[in-house]
Amino acid sequence: MIADRDLVERDLAAVWHPCTQMREHPDVLPLVPVVRGEGAWLVGADGRRYLDAVSSWWTNIHGHGEPRIAAAIAEQARTLEHVLLAGFTHPSAIALAEQLLARAPRQAGRDPLAKVFYADNGSAAVEVALKMAFHWFRNRGEPERRKFIALHNGYHGETLGALAVGDIPLYRRIYAPLLAEAIFAPSPDAYAARPGQSAEECALEAADVLASLLDAHGQEVCALIVEPLLQCAGGMRMYHPAYLRRVRELCDAHGVFLIADEIASGFGRTGTLFACEQAGIQPDLMCVSKGLTGGFMPLAATLATQAIYDGFLDDSRERAFLHSHSYTGNPLGCAAGLASLAIFDQDGVLERNRATSMRMGELAKDIATLPHVADARQCGMVVAFELTRDGNKATPFDPSLRIGLQAYRAALARGVVLRPLGDILYWMPPYCIDDNALVQLAEVTATTIREVTACA
Ligand SMILES: *Cc1c(COP(=O)(O)O)cnc(C)c1O
Repeated sequence: MIADRDLVERDLAAVWHPCTQMREHPDVLPLVPVVRGEGAWLVGADGRRYLDAVSSWWTNIHGHGEPRIAAAIAEQARTLEHVLLAGFTHPSAIALAEQLLARAPRQAGRDPLAKVFYADNGSAAVEVALKMAFHWFRNRGEPERRKFIALHNGYHGETLGALAVGDIPLYRRIYAPLLAEAIFAPSPDAYAARPGQSAEECALEAADVLASLLDAHGQEVCALIVEPLLQCAGGMRMYHPAYLRRVRELCDAHGVFLIADEIASGFGRTGTLFACEQAGIQPDLMCVSKGLTGGFMPLAATLATQAIYDGFLDDSRERAFLHSHSYTGNPLGCAAGLASLAIFDQDGVLERNRATSMRMGELAKDIATLPHVADARQCGMVVAFELTRDGNKATPFDPSLRIGLQAYRAALARGVVLRPLGDILYWMPPYCIDDNALVQLAEVTATTIREVTACA
């Protein structure tokens, strides 16, 4: 067995971690060396097991070490590990594109999503969508359509283009001087509903403000970007699908493209394969990543309609969409994506998830009644608990108490990875999680909440 301590020391001497104030390692924030993954579990170098209740940053859907995905990657690696995707293609990129298009949201009477542009991470897929929308209008002779509309509390990644349409101050504020101009519309977030106001009324009120923003600025806007149903990084905030139906109508009325960022919500997380399906709408551009490869390989894709694709066909290279990444359409990623989609069919994953998510909802009920839980909400395979000083929405904890961090440490000490967003704890497990693990997750969550709120 490898000494845990040794790995931590070597890591801290050489590795700079994401989303981390490195000074907090390892005393304030533990650093856990992981050497194996098995289903919903991670195995530490010291042999301890941790329940991965956050699916390793929302990527893992069928479980760690899923043998069918591992085998597909191994087979692809022996056959063709990589080839540039300009001037060349390969069977896995073709088959995965066909599969994604066949399964993409579809709305009767609309130009369907018809083309797949590959990238290698979610932020890049968002950059692709933003650039495509802007460039399409330029090609059409409408260069004045250069602004984007995005939602308050939204998140679309960390690169400068993606940050420009994001609204999480922690990630955005420092880089604001570098960012392209975006127009922000109110979030339809049901948590912000007034007392007595339904989630639907709250969503439609937000849509009314969006309508007036479009009336004022519609002519300068090329696209609107949303996370359908679920603002993940914004604290697992959820909203009514009626919002998306209004958004679709408003975008059509103003000739603005609708970009659905399904990077976190896609591949079954919200209950349907894609969240847009629950509103019965189809976007003009759709970004996917995270669960695309079952959590095995970095791969992303932006799906576009035929009309968008056609807007780039011309004799000139300038009119073409020249965006490229070295690893665009990497065969190992595409093979993993194909294996992951096959598992949805072979194992009836969406069907099984209906039972699992019902069980998650049941287990959440007792936690919802704890005195410091201001809200417990669920969207498919995501459950979130909002902790406040006295269980009232209006009385958040003093951020300097770092209740979320305390909860993280307390749960980790009990073998559960509950990585909070601020003071919001959430369950977003791999879909293969079994009932014993769910029960353990609920017990540890309840104990953790009691412990960290006891003296707060
Ligand atoms: C994670 C995420 C992204 C960014 O994806 P990366 O692969 O981390 O760059 C974009 N949008 C949403 C909704 C996400 O959750």
